[in-house]
Amino acid sequence: MDANNLDLARIGRRAFLQGGVLVLGAATTTATARVDEKPGVRFGLITDLHYADKPPAGTRHYRETPAKLAEAAERFKRDKAEFLVELGDLIDAADSVEVELAYLDRIDRELAAIAERRRYVLGNHCVDTLTKAEFLGKVGQERSFDSFDAGGWHFVLLDACFRGDGEPYGRKNFEWTDANIPAHEIRWLRDDLAATSKPTIVFAHQRLDVEGPHTVKNAAEVRAVLESSGRVRAVFQGHSHKNDYREIAGVHYVTLVAMVEGSGAESSGYALVDADDAGSIRVRGFRKQQAYAWAP
Ligand SMILES: [Zn+2]
Repeated sequence: MDANNLDLARIGRRAFLQGGVLVLGAATTTATARVDEKPGVRFGLITDLHYADKPPAGTRHYRETPAKLAEAAERFKRDKAEFLVELGDLIDAADSVEVELAYLDRIDRELAAIAERRRYVLGNHCVDTLTKAEFLGKVGQERSFDSFDAGGWHFVLLDACFRGDGEPYGRKNFEWTDANIPAHEIRWLRDDLAATSKPTIVFAHQRLDVEGPHTVKNAAEVRAVLESSGRVRAVFQGHSHKNDYREIAGVHYVTLVAMVEGSGAESSGYALVDADDAGSIRVRGFRKQQAYAWAP
């Protein structure tokens, strides 16, 4: 809670300065130093939006997602996030492929208005009724697992929507607890990490840090690749719909809250991450999202 308050205070100062008014006389020297910080890269994170035009089910308020997203969008724009990563389960189920594609179309138009540069991690709900090709085709992303560089950092998107036998999810052909990263993706990951000299952040939907139904079945194998690369600093994941954090072998694993959970703006959750040139990472959490800060 303290960290959140501090963050809000900082945001306030920054916005003030962006207005071109140089009034920091009353501010403390630490405040001035913070304003001078030059983050290497800043990006927005959202997860588990589960958008669908259908009534709430349990704690999931599908129709409220656009309003919650609009609030996050305002923050991301105001604080100039360079890119946006959506950590999976962007949509929820419909009775037909056509209706589900319409849900995706609606929510993706809003994402497109937030950030020109954005990446989508596949969640089990994204490719439940739809195929991977249908989902990716609609959002204009070529690959389900991929990597890119920004601001001195390397970023990796993983796709754990594969059955144990290697078959990709799609058209209701899987059990959601059977999440796996297949051998060919592991090989790609090892090569990709070997080819970068930059500190690296990984994005995944299903979890890589705990045992249980929400975890990638071969998570230990994936973690071994991340650890042996010596590059990976943090992994951001969704799927569990709740805040969680673990450090394993020097890698920070953060699970973010789901945007779909709960009614009202106060139930939402989203994050802005600053990864600076010195190698430190700061996660600003909004609404129900926890904040974190890690030194290099
Ligand atoms: Zn979800």
